[in-house]
Amino acid sequence: MGVPETDFATRVVRWQSRHGRNDLPWQTLRDPYRVWLSEIMLQQTQVATVKAYFARFVDRFPDVAALAAASLDDVLGLWSGLGYYSRARNLHRCAQELMRQHDGKFPRDAETLATLPGIGRSTAAAIASLCFSERVAILDANVKRVVSRVTGFEADVAVAANARALWDAATGLLPSEKRATQDMARYTQGMMDLGAMVCTPKRPACVECPVQKDCRANAAGDPESYPVRSRKLRRSSQSIWLLWAETVTGDVWLGRRPTPGVWAGLYCLPLFESESTLLDALPAYARGMVQVAPAFLHVLTHKDLHLHVCRVRMSNRDLDAETIGEGRWIGATEWPALGLPAPIRKLLERR
Ligand code: SF4
Repeated sequence: MGVPETDFATRVVRWQSRHGRNDLPWQTLRDPYRVWLSEIMLQQTQVATVKAYFARFVDRFPDVAALAAASLDDVLGLWSGLGYYSRARNLHRCAQELMRQHDGKFPRDAETLATLPGIGRSTAAAIASLCFSERVAILDANVKRVVSRVTGFEADVAVAANARALWDAATGLLPSEKRATQDMARYTQGMMDLGAMVCTPKRPACVECPVQKDCRANAAGDPESYPVRSRKLRRSSQSIWLLWAETVTGDVWLGRRPTPGVWAGLYCLPLFESESTLLDALPAYARGMVQVAPAFLHVLTHKDLHLHVCRVRMSNRDLDAETIGEGRWIGATEWPALGLPAPIRKLLERR
């Protein structure tokens, strides 16, 4: 027997209006610019962290035109610390594309929205349903969990064909065509809120859940086994030597990281595969002055980085870009505004 569609959606909508989150800073105006910005920031990042970044972003770039006109360095600088920097680069490209192709306005349907840089199917559906009441399903990580539990979705969601079937299942739960204009925004928000507040990865609060009686995983008594993932993420690890070269006046040598690669597009201390290659890149007089700090761990999604910091104070500015990699001396009044990887920013701030 299938899940009763209208009843399910109505329960989510009612619960959202009473218990969901209705005072987030991007919810007030149903402005697609703000919804888009928040959706991109919320990928991989918690609401509490996003709030401060969101406020700074809309203050500095109040609309699409302002973001499109900004330099990429300014955008990356403001994004610094949020991680996953391809999101910021796509945000900037998308704003420029909106100005070029759409007169600075967001398309109103998910299909067209999904053609823009950095806007995937779920983000497109979130903007279209929250701002324009289009009847389309979102399927971010939280909602994937709710849908797979409610429908008892047994297949591995990491397999593309199964992921498409889960989208169909999510579409089958939407408010009816008749209710869509009225309910879609609240339904979408309700599904996000359920995933974040009630149907959590560990120990979901099933007794407080508005769709408990629709839920097959709850009936079977094993919600935590959904969504089913048979493939495990393979992690790797890498050691990197960082050259922290500074002048007597406190300027630091920083270069922009190539794309693609670790920290693509950000300003960074020069990276080396080993201590010896790092030392070889320095002028002979500076090699004996290098201080090596104990390695520290920085965790990326698929990789553990073991970072070894080699610090040296140069008596003159004679680093050679050919051996050290592209870059320049940057003063302490300039680098804080640049887009820097979080661990590098922390290092430089501590000095
Ligand atoms: Fe999630 Fe439990 Fe609600 Fe099912 S009943 S949707 S498992 S919180």
